[in-house]
Amino acid sequence: MSGAPSRAIVPAWDHTPRAPGAGPRHVLRREYFGALVYDRETCEYVPYDREAASFLLSRREAPVAPASPAGAGFLAALEREGVISGSGRLAARVVADRSADDRLSAPLTVYLGAAQGCNLACGHCSTASGPGPLGALEPEVMRRLFSELHDLGCMQVHVSGGEPLLHPELLPALDPAFELGLNVLLTTNGTLVTEELADELAKRPFRCVSVSLDGASARANDLVRGAGSFARALEGLERLARRRPTGVTATFTPALVGKLEDLVRLCERAGAASLSLRPALPAGRALSRLDLLPSQGDFEAAARELDRLQESSSIPLFHPPEVPHQETKAFVLERFGCVAGNLVCSVTPSGQVSPCALLGPSFDAGSLREHTLHELWERGRPFTRLRLLEGNEKCWSCRHYDHCGGGCRARALHATGDLDESDPWCKWEPREGALLVLP
Ligand code: SF4
Ligand code: SF4
Repeated sequence: MSGAPSRAIVPAWDHTPRAPGAGPRHVLRREYFGALVYDRETCEYVPYDREAASFLLSRREAPVAPASPAGAGFLAALEREGVISGSGRLAARVVADRSADDRLSAPLTVYLGAAQGCNLACGHCSTASGPGPLGALEPEVMRRLFSELHDLGCMQVHVSGGEPLLHPELLPALDPAFELGLNVLLTTNGTLVTEELADELAKRPFRCVSVSLDGASARANDLVRGAGSFARALEGLERLARRRPTGVTATFTPALVGKLEDLVRLCERAGAASLSLRPALPAGRALSRLDLLPSQGDFEAAARELDRLQESSSIPLFHPPEVPHQETKAFVLERFGCVAGNLVCSVTPSGQVSPCALLGPSFDAGSLREHTLHELWERGRPFTRLRLLEGNEKCWSCRHYDHCGGGCRARALHATGDLDESDPWCKWEPREGALLVLP
């Protein structure tokens, strides 16, 4: 989840008109700095300061002409974005005001584990899923969650598992999310995608669907993801890609060192719409397979290699920025910590809500069967704990602090046992005038 939510959106699975009840393209929610406006077409939350937010809200009725040339320019820009209609009125759904001084009113993206079980048992699986109890999240809990997210103006849900397609009622359970206009992203291991299931998936307006592949050959992939998984995942990918633009997500392990070009070419041949590379992280089963965790140096070299391959590749290739959260966090958050509990949260297949699944079950805040998501987001102990972190001198002295904020809390916790420490994948450089001198 490192780097989530992504501003580098993979080619969209769906461009069909939204469900009639889904409402306008834009959704406005008030925040302590002003407002966030979500664009369901671009999947971006755009922040506005207080003055701009009041201007937008004043356009809900009886708009008057702007008093200054600057105001007229701003209005014209908003009209081009579609936030203001041709008649000068706000063209966004405005959600109830839940703004608070010390946090966002709600997450920007919710990561939803639909089923705990999986037909594979990948060595690096961050949820330690595998064959065994299915642990499928009840459709009724999902329906309530989607309805609440719509009310909160949290418009993105990223569905994974375990293997989400093992959930026997997954697609009907997701239909309310589509009807409400939420952008739903799905990551699957692809091995269960039959022609029939591919047809059913293709009928739904997912924002994007991606298949996990961790190597360009059965030998390389199956070493990590299990015997026989490569052939079936590739088949599933090709079935999906024949119907809609489908991405590939590759988890980078030492097994991929020197093999990226093969993977890129495989994705192109299979008809994938994009390839996103992310590092295996110290969580779940990877905690007992430390040999599958890449070094920072190897991952950075792989990211550079991907940039080089982009020049000859026909599909977009993505990787997280070198400095954690360089492109994602600074625009709305000014505190130590990562996106966990500040911009995003996770829901497990048993309905537990936590700031980030990678932090492990000790960070579960409570269950959706007893609480609303907003109650847990607002007052859940793990959430307030992460928001009260102070950080450390090294990060305060670093010129990347404003957007990095200390980096991934799961990696810092695993490496040091201390949530206030820096991400071990650190890119420290002195801030101008910083007093701390590091060796
Ligand atoms: S010191 Fe490292 S972890 Fe801390 S803000 Fe700088 S780059 Fe990020
Ligand atoms: S702890 Fe933070 S940075 Fe790390 S995976 Fe979770 S949300 Fe992402």
